[in-house]
Amino acid sequence: MGKLAHSAIVSEEWGPLDRPLDRILGTRTANALGKLGLSTCGDLLAHIPFRLAHRGELLPIEAVHEGDTVTVVARVIDSHVRPMNRRRGYLLSVRIADGAHTLSLTFFGKSARPLNYHATRLAPGTLATFSGTISSYRGELQLSHPEYEVLDTAKDIDPEKIAQPIPIYHASAAIPSWKIHAAVDIVLDHITAADVPDPLPEDYRAEHKLLTAYQAMYAAHRPSCDDDWQRALLRFKHEEAFILQALIAQQVHANAGIPAPALHPRSDGVLAAFDRRLPFTLTAGQRDVGRELSEEMAVATPMRRLLQGDVGSGKTIVALRAMLQAVDAGYQAVLVAPTEVLAAQHYETFRHLLGDLAAGGELGAPEISTRLELLTGSLPAAAKRRTLANIASGMPQIIVGTHALFEDRVQLPRLGFVVIDEQHRFGVDQRDRLASGSHLLVMTATPIPRTIAMTTFGELRVSTLRELPSGRQPVQTALVPADNAVWVERMWQRAREEIAAGGRVYIVCPAINAETSEADMGIDPVEESSVPAQSEGAAGRRPLASVTSTVELLATIPALAGIPVGYVHGQLSSEEKSQAMARFASGQTPILVSTTVIEVGVDVPEATMMIILDAERFGLSQLHQLRGRVGRGTAQSLCLAVFHVLPGTVAFARLEAFAGTTDGFALAQRDVELRSEGNVLGRDQSGRVSSLRFVRVTKDEDIIDHARRYAREMIGRDPELRDQPVLAVAIDRARSAATDYLDRS
Ligand code: ADP
Ligand code: MG
Repeated sequence: MGKLAHSAIVSEEWGPLDRPLDRILGTRTANALGKLGLSTCGDLLAHIPFRLAHRGELLPIEAVHEGDTVTVVARVIDSHVRPMNRRRGYLLSVRIADGAHTLSLTFFGKSARPLNYHATRLAPGTLATFSGTISSYRGELQLSHPEYEVLDTAKDIDPEKIAQPIPIYHASAAIPSWKIHAAVDIVLDHITAADVPDPLPEDYRAEHKLLTAYQAMYAAHRPSCDDDWQRALLRFKHEEAFILQALIAQQVHANAGIPAPALHPRSDGVLAAFDRRLPFTLTAGQRDVGRELSEEMAVATPMRRLLQGDVGSGKTIVALRAMLQAVDAGYQAVLVAPTEVLAAQHYETFRHLLGDLAAGGELGAPEISTRLELLTGSLPAAAKRRTLANIASGMPQIIVGTHALFEDRVQLPRLGFVVIDEQHRFGVDQRDRLASGSHLLVMTATPIPRTIAMTTFGELRVSTLRELPSGRQPVQTALVPADNAVWVERMWQRAREEIAAGGRVYIVCPAINAETSEADMGIDPVEESSVPAQSEGAAGRRPLASVTSTVELLATIPALAGIPVGYVHGQLSSEEKSQAMARFASGQTPILVSTTVIEVGVDVPEATMMIILDAERFGLSQLHQLRGRVGRGTAQSLCLAVFHVLPGTVAFARLEAFAGTTDGFALAQRDVELRSEGNVLGRDQSGRVSSLRFVRVTKDEDIIDHARRYAREMIGRDPELRDQPVLAVAIDRARSAATDYLDRS
């Protein structure tokens, strides 16, 4: 907040907000704050307390999990120092309570003396803030060597102090909440209202009776009552929503200025020829959306559309038909896929569907035909040069590729239409650069709530495919408890039966091998707090099911004896990946053990069974995407989610929802609900679907709406924001942050 804004306006010298923290706080504190990503005064002041505690009440101990860094306000019940049983040294154990729950604290010492010191300070009845990392000992959760700050002893309670709320900050093992508070206090004394430029336009702020940027910062860190803090948060929400909506409005404005070619349909072109040989009839939804696209592409106002349709609803054909309209009009059309596997698959699908209609320029091609090119990063250099030259010729054609298509050296002189499959993998900026001066279609299988569509997807208008092609049977889904040997045995039996009947079986794991973590794997960030800490056995944590360990496991399962097993994961070369996929598709290896690389789009109609191991580790939309890999032919398909969690947890509720319906729209709704239920002390990630810090897309629709209306009108009047220099800088900063976020996710 304000950091870059300030430096860009004052430039040259450091403004007070840009001053590095070590200048003011000393290196030790500054380093500890640095680990939280806070390096300047502005960073620290933007680190807003996530809740307030009150001396009169206690901050609950409920729902802490092993590994959590927590801050609780609680009273000491009792404490005692004793020698340790097995080792030399002493142990102080303290029990604290918040009225409903208790938690034990332990301190170790070589001698009893330092422990007695803590014991004296933590006499029964003392109220204190305790902070540390939750660990477990013999099945009981505890805090070892927590940091603490005594708020009141049982005897001296200062009524004045009691009224004042205590801000609680997201802390780390290196620095507890109250030390952050103390640092903020020092820094705040160096800052005046003039140091904090306000990006919100004056009259917007007046209209909503919002605090100024400085007032909000002050009220958030030094609230004299709860109301102060609430008003600060309201201001931050508006600011965040406003900056984002202004950014989007600016992008829309910029795009609207560049017309796209009018791609007129032809009755005697490739599209017509393609439609004549289509092996099935289009669903009513496919026809309706097709007409919508066709009409919008036929005019020079660039089309900006989001096509959402559940997995298997047939989005690809819709996109291909629209691409053929572009070709018929003499233009190039590209389809960008998020992975090489997916790009290769689309290419093969198109080639298969188009047949000799894709043989343009070759001997014996029909008179009306087009060319189809594949461009990915892993193409051999010579082939890539050829493809690039072909594309640069500007010949009307269809080009399928990955983000390699975004590289500068890719020249698309006659580009008229861009399709992006599974948008969430691309940065909005990249997308807009490629599609500037063209029509754009973004396809997603994850239904997007309206508010998210407004924030992340800007001005895309939404088309929806609601029905699946006829003849499809919904995938049967069942949950299999990992410790139920009978069920697990039956599952492997069933896999054998599916294969014997000509089917294929996917087995999906959350890790590649023992070394890979979920973060490396691109696994959707499920709220960590919604997955209970793994059981602590003699061998420590139970390792996640990995591709390597599962391939080994399968070799020992009698029911699967003699069935060849293939595997695929992100660390293989794209050559290896596509070979593994081809062997699976052909039935050479009818079992494919994989990571989520098969998550989106992969199409093997013979696959009739999917087994997801450690299913609690995957997010709901990811599970749904995975399940969409089966049930793509006419045979009844089955999805089994093998899990370890206990009933009653959010993770289990997620799995129940998954097993309960195959309707992706219903699941998306449930996902949002479960994310808000996942809220646990010390975390405030719930309900946030994007990089937004303050705005909740589930609750703040009004704020987003207001900000959007004002921002559009403002950009219409003053597109360059000449009248709002502070806002202009804040938008630039948000733009790079948004791109970062989307590129990472
Ligand atoms: P998604 O929306 O998940 O991308 P696809 O476009 O990959 O779905 O379609 C899934 C499968 O359904 C493909 O094998 C495709 O050929 C087939 N399909 C698409 N439209 C129809 C239709 N109208 N009738 C029958 N099958 C269809
Ligand atoms: Mg698809």
